[in-house]
Amino acid sequence: MFDRLALIGAGLIGSSIARAARAQNAVREIVATAQSAATRRRVAELGLADQVVEGNAAAVAGADLVIVCVPVGVCGAVAAEIGPHLSRGAIVSDVGSVKEAVVREMGPHLPKGVHFVPAHPVAGTEHSGPDAGFATLFVGRWCILTPPEGTDSAAVERLAAFWSSLGANVETMPATHHDLVLAITSHLPHLIAYTIVGTADELAEVTRSEVLKFSAGGFRDFTRIAASDPTMWRDVFLANRDAVLEMLGTFNEDLSQLTRAIRRGDGEALFAHFTRTRAIRRGIVQIGQDSPAPDFGRPHPDLPVEPRPRAEAGAGGGGTARPVSGERPAARRAPPGNGLEITS
Ligand code: NAP
Repeated sequence: MFDRLALIGAGLIGSSIARAARAQNAVREIVATAQSAATRRRVAELGLADQVVEGNAAAVAGADLVIVCVPVGVCGAVAAEIGPHLSRGAIVSDVGSVKEAVVREMGPHLPKGVHFVPAHPVAGTEHSGPDAGFATLFVGRWCILTPPEGTDSAAVERLAAFWSSLGANVETMPATHHDLVLAITSHLPHLIAYTIVGTADELAEVTRSEVLKFSAGGFRDFTRIAASDPTMWRDVFLANRDAVLEMLGTFNEDLSQLTRAIRRGDGEALFAHFTRTRAIRRGIVQIGQDSPAPDFGRPHPDLPVEPRPRAEAGAGGGGTARPVSGERPAARRAPPGNGLEITS
């Protein structure tokens, strides 16, 4: 158990750590800070920490565990601020979605006698801020530790035990390898989602309204990922440029192959490819990383007992007036978001 946990940044990830650490009794005391007075006020209102302080340096005083939960692009500047104020023997970690750049930018600011153990909990949603966090975010998800060579193994084990107590599975790997793996499993999918949603937005007005109306055809799943925090994702792509560009090169080659198969009417190639990808999806479900429920577990409306009269079916609603998937009356519609996680 840690005595005093300092959280620098209390958004989705920082506030989830606070909630989970409290729920699991993983720390005796929590001190939190954030950049703006508004966020600090909200953290205090939500009762997420024992103390909410102004200033990163003030937050780390006396802490034996410091977790930096800010966008990757400011990790270096935060390390420079807190470096002189860290307690000897403290463990300093982060939660950044990119690891090599964070190690490079934070490492030089941390004094001797402090243990630097970078980490990335591979768990998240498209929401940001202290209200978005929840205590079970890390349960059954992976937390990857990327300790630089020569890091004290006892410190690595202590941090691993902390994340395990929050429900995460912990794995250790070099930062460069982490960045390559996450480039394909997280960063590239986000880039594709940002692209496709942007492309649809540029379509002519009349088509755009139909894109929204018929989004259940697959588009809406991209929109959820593309709603992720712009600051965070700008920083991720800038910080993991090389690995993302490498994966993007491979992706473009594969896309060209599929394009060629479509152009040539090569159904066999398309079928073989789609069979392979379906097996990957099934593998993800089998190892418990997603729900086996159809349509990602979204709730579906029941058929009405009585068919609606023709007039209610609206303009163009010919035939039997029954609602179809995605056409529930407003009052019965599920709230936005379905609680499904996306990982970053
Ligand atoms: P978030 O909800 O936007 O929260 C970011 C927090 O950092 C806010 O409290 C913000 O304060 C604070 N902050 C920003 N600059 C700061 C500074 N210079 N000093 C002190 N605090 C500062 O973001 P998040 O989703 O929690 O992401 C945080 C980190 O987790 C990122 O590095 C991201 O790569 C990583 N991560 C994210 C996910 C995900 O799905 N979101 C998953 C895994 C890892 P204000 O609110 O006052 O601006």
